[in-house]
This record gives sequence, structure tokens and C-alpha cells, in this order.
Amino acid sequence: MMKLERLSFGMGDRFGYQGKAQLQAIIQAKETGIDIVPIWNKSFREHQFVHTSPDAVREEADAAVEALGWTGSYFVDADHIGLNNVDHFIPSSDFYILDVADFTGKAASAQDTEAFMSKFSEYTGTLEIPGIEAAFKIDRERLWAIADKYLLAVKEAGRIYRHIESAKGRGNFITEVSMDETDDPQTAVELFFILAAVSEEGIPAQTIAPKFTGRFNKGVDYVGDVIQFEKEFNDDLAVIAFAIKAFGLPDNLKLSVHSGSDKFSIYKPIGDAIRLTGAGVHVKTAGTTWLEELIGLAEAGGEGLLIAKEVYRKALDRMVELCEPYSAVIDIESSKLPGVEEVNAWDGKRFAASLRHDQTCDAYNMHFRQLLHIGFKIAADMGDRYLNALKEYEAVIAKHVSENLFERHIKRLFMTDQAEFSQ
Ligand SMILES: [Zn+2]
Repeated sequence: MMKLERLSFGMGDRFGYQGKAQLQAIIQAKETGIDIVPIWNKSFREHQFVHTSPDAVREEADAAVEALGWTGSYFVDADHIGLNNVDHFIPSSDFYILDVADFTGKAASAQDTEAFMSKFSEYTGTLEIPGIEAAFKIDRERLWAIADKYLLAVKEAGRIYRHIESAKGRGNFITEVSMDETDDPQTAVELFFILAAVSEEGIPAQTIAPKFTGRFNKGVDYVGDVIQFEKEFNDDLAVIAFAIKAFGLPDNLKLSVHSGSDKFSIYKPIGDAIRLTGAGVHVKTAGTTWLEELIGLAEAGGEGLLIAKEVYRKALDRMVELCEPYSAVIDIESSKLPGVEEVNAWDGKRFAASLRHDQTCDAYNMHFRQLLHIGFKIAADMGDRYLNALKEYEAVIAKHVSENLFERHIKRLFMTDQAEFSQ
């Protein structure tokens, strides 16, 4: 059976030119003794926006691996798929994120709910989970409410899983179940019974992506209560360890953190928790790489800087339309955005400094950064002009892409205490 290793790092690449630069960051981690499995992820929606196909991600990953002589494992992730679009990803992917968030909050059939209730009623009463201090009190009503909220979603995950299994064969791909794109975070108890249902559906999930507390805005730092996040994250780790034994789930089942790009303030709690428990984690990033492309173009000057400025100008013009699909994951205050004339007067260094995610830099502007994050559609509309610039300025862009992933992301997540990861 294909098995996902303890530490994995998801990387999205809107235009498919940065695979090598991204892999370089993983290689750099390996050179310092940290084994991380690279996973290239791209959702159906993103493919539509950029007019690419899932096969292109496979080609990009294979080419990067070949070029850099990477001998470790790596995966190509069908990111946030459902029954309606999974078929596009069957030939090229070996990692599937079954997104069933839209099926949460809707009740399963009475028969299914009854079956779930009778199967798991042994957990009503006082539920103690090793690693979580306070015991949970669970009565029938509470269990019923959890089934009402999540059972249908897990059943749907089962349908998607079986569809993929029938096409690819059992054990030939990694499965993740995701419910992160919902409004309410899932509690530890809810996660426990979600995993019960996952096992009952026969889904060999190796990662699970719950919705955590707080806001995971695109490309900027976590907004929320870090202490609360840390408690939730640790409770979830305890639930997973317990559920693996209780329900016979894959022993490498781990948490998956979505919208992981640039969530610097929760990287330390995540790193601390996995170092302490020995648990694994999958952290997904995506748009942060596109923003490094823009930073590289700006710093390159000439046509590169012209493109970066044009992307901003057009993103400002089309702000309402661009923001619409992302309203739950961006917070842009228009009054904090620099005007077009001001930006046109900037040199490349100034543009890059406003965009680069360095919170200690006075020029850094998180509103500017978020708008450009969703502005990748403008670059997609530029077509060959944009792609040619990526080729022309490849060297400077690649340096920024690698450095960002390694220095700002991987180091902060995994390198507080290298020794513990080097075994
Ligand atoms: Zn997600």
C-alpha cells in the first residue's frame, strides 16, 4: 500500500514553472537532516482559472524530480475534488483530497443515522481520550447531533473514495478527507466521531483536514487566538492517535493544515506539537509561490516590473470581481491600498518590499499582498507575455521561490530542534 511519510509539504504552483525551485527548498531541508515529502497540489478551480490541466502538474513534478535527481517519494495532489470533477485527475494524481465540506450540516438518511448510533453508542457516557485532560460527556442527543452534521459528508467521501479505488486500484493512491472549507471549526469530539464514520465507510484516510479555529486568509499570517489554536491542534492529535487504535485506521493518519501559506504565528505551535508527540503533519501552501514570482519580476526590473505593476493596476480595477470567490479567506481594507500613481512611481525594490511577507519591514502591506494574491487571474489573462517573462527572469524568480519556502516556511515549521527530526 502506498504510504505517506511523517512530514509532507504541499506546494501549489499556479503557472507550473516553479517546480524545480520548490523542490530545491525540500532538498535544502534534506541537506540539513529533515525529510519532507513534496506534494504538488492544484485544485480543479485553479486549473480552470489558469487554463491548465491536471496532467500538467504531473509533468511539472516529474520534470523537477528528474532534473534535480530527487530519489525520495513525491506525490501529485488532486486538491479539493468531488465526484463531479475527480475523473480529470485519475491519470495524473496519486494523492486525493476528498472535499465534502458542502455535505456537512445536512442529515443522512434515518437508516444510516440509526446504524451509526447503534454502532458507536458504546462511546456515550464519559469518553476519556489519552492526552486530553478533561473527559467528554456524550449523551445520545450529542451523538445524534454529530451524526446529523457530519455523517452524510463522510458517506459522500466514501462514494468518492470508492470511485477512485475502482479506477486506480486499492492501495495505489493516498486519501485525504477534507472539511476545512466550512464556517464552523470541528471540535475534538466531532473529529473523533468523524473518524469513526470514516473507518465505517472503509476509507483508508492517511490525512484529515479539519477546519481549525481562526481565519486562514490567503497568503498572510493567521488571524485568531494562537493559544486556542494550539489547544485544538494538540487535542486533535490526541484524538487521531486514539482513533487509529479504536477504529483500525491507517497508523500514519495525520492532520493536514490547509491554507498553510504564510501562517507563521501557528508554525511554532504546530512544530512543537509534532516534536512532542512524534505525530506527523501535512502543511499545504500554494499562492505564496505565485507572489514570489511577482516579487522576482519586480526586482528584475524592465518588463518584469512593468508586468508586476500592471497586475496590480488591473487587480485594483477588478477588485470586486476578483474578491468575490474568496470572500471567506481574504480581508482587504481598500483604504490601506496604495494608489496606482504611487505604485507606478515605485522601483522594483519598493514594490517587492511592500509585497514580501516580512512583518518586520515597514514597507510590508498585507492588503496589497492579499489583493495581488487573488490577482493571478490577471497574469493568466496576459497569457504568453506573462509566461515569457517567467522564462526570461527564471533565475531571479527561482531564488525567491526557494528561499521563501525554505527560510520562511520549512525552517519555522520543522527546524526548531533539528535533532528530533533527523532520526
Ligand atoms: Zn483546503
